[in-house]
Amino acid sequence: MATLYYSDDADKALVRSRKVAVIGYGSQGHAHALNLRDSGVDVRVGLREGSASKAKAEAAGLRVVSVRQAASEADLVMVLLPDTEQRAVYESEIADELAEGDALFFAHGFNIRFGLVNPPPGGDVAMVAPKGPGHLVRRTFEEGGGVPSLIAVAEDASGKAMQLALSYADALGATRAGVLETTFEEETETDLFGEQAVLCGGVSALVMAAFETLVEAGYQPESAYFECLHELKLIVDLMYEQGISGMRFSVSDTAEYGDMTRGPRVIDEHVRDEMRAILAEIRDGRFAAEWVAENAAGRPRFKALREQGRSHPIEQVGAQLRAMMPFVSKGRQRLEDVSGG
Ligand code: NAD
Ligand code: MG
Repeated sequence: MATLYYSDDADKALVRSRKVAVIGYGSQGHAHALNLRDSGVDVRVGLREGSASKAKAEAAGLRVVSVRQAASEADLVMVLLPDTEQRAVYESEIADELAEGDALFFAHGFNIRFGLVNPPPGGDVAMVAPKGPGHLVRRTFEEGGGVPSLIAVAEDASGKAMQLALSYADALGATRAGVLETTFEEETETDLFGEQAVLCGGVSALVMAAFETLVEAGYQPESAYFECLHELKLIVDLMYEQGISGMRFSVSDTAEYGDMTRGPRVIDEHVRDEMRAILAEIRDGRFAAEWVAENAAGRPRFKALREQGRSHPIEQVGAQLRAMMPFVSKGRQRLEDVSGG
C-alpha cells in the first residue's frame, strides 16, 4: 500500500521558516494564500498589474504585490496561474527572482513534466496538489477539515524538499485528510488520462452517443435526456459512496445483469486500444505539444469545439428540463449566467 501522511508526520516549522509567495488569486490561489496565512505562514500574493483579484485579496487582509516583487521577496514561490499561462509568466517575472536555495512549487505537474518551465539547479522543485477545487480547499479548512492532496518532488536541492512540501500541505489543511506521495510524472499523466478517458471526455462522449442513439431510433429527446444524463448522477453517487459492487447492490437485478453483460460490449477492446493510444500521446508529450500550439494560435479549435458542444440537441432539451427543476442547480454558477446565452 502507498504511504499516506497525516498531521503528526509534518514538520510544521519548515514552511513557517519561509517567506511564501502565492502567485495568482484564482480558485487555488485564494485558498492557498488564506489557509497558509491562517496557519501562521508569512504570505504575500503576487498579481499582475490591474488584476481584478487585487481588491478581493486585500479585503481578505492579504498583502498584494507584483508577481516579480512577490517572487523576489519570497524563498518559496507557489505558482497558481492557469497552466497555459505559467511558462510565459515564469520566464518574464519569476525566473530572474529565484535566488539560490529558493523553492519553486506547483499544484499540478504539467509545466515541469513537459519541460515548459525549466527551473535553475540549486532550488527545490515540488508539488502540493489538492484533489479538489479551491473553494473546497478553503471551506473545508475553515470547518476544521481538509482536502486530500498529492505531494511530489522534481528537484531535491535541499535534501528536504519532500518534508517542505509536506509542511506546506499541512499548513494548507491537507494532512487532516491525507497526503499521498507521488511523482510529477504520475500526477500529470494520470490526471490528464483520467479527465480525457473518463471524467470529462469519456463520460460526455458516452452520454451524447447514447442520447443520439435513442433519438435516432425515434424516442423522445426528453426521455433520452432523463435516462442517459440526468440519472447518471444517482449512479455515480452510489459508486462514490460504495464502489461498483455497492452500486450494483442498489440497482435492480435486471439492471445489474444488463450492466455486466452489455457494459463490456460498449467498452470493448477497440475502446481499450484507443485508451492506450490516448495514454501514449500523453506520455510522449504529443497531447501537451498540441495544447500548447493550440493556445499559441489563439485556441481556434478549442473555441469551435466548445460552440459545437453547446449547440448539441442534448443541451437544448437539457436546458428546458432543468429550468423546470431549479433545485438541480441551486446555488451553482450556471452557464446561462456566465455566457449570457
Ligand atoms: P484559476 O484560473 O482559477 O486562477 C488563476 C489566477 O491566475 C487568477 O487569479 C488569474 O487572474 C491569474 N492569472 C491568469 N493569467 C495571468 C497572467 N498572465 N499573469 C498573472 N496572473 C494571471 O486557476 P486555478 O484553477 O486556481 O489553477 C491554478 C493551478 O492549480 C493550476 O496549475 C491548476 O492545474 C492547479 N489545480 C487546480 C485545481 C482546481 O480545481 N481549480 C485543483 C488542483 C490543482
Ligand atoms: Mg526569491
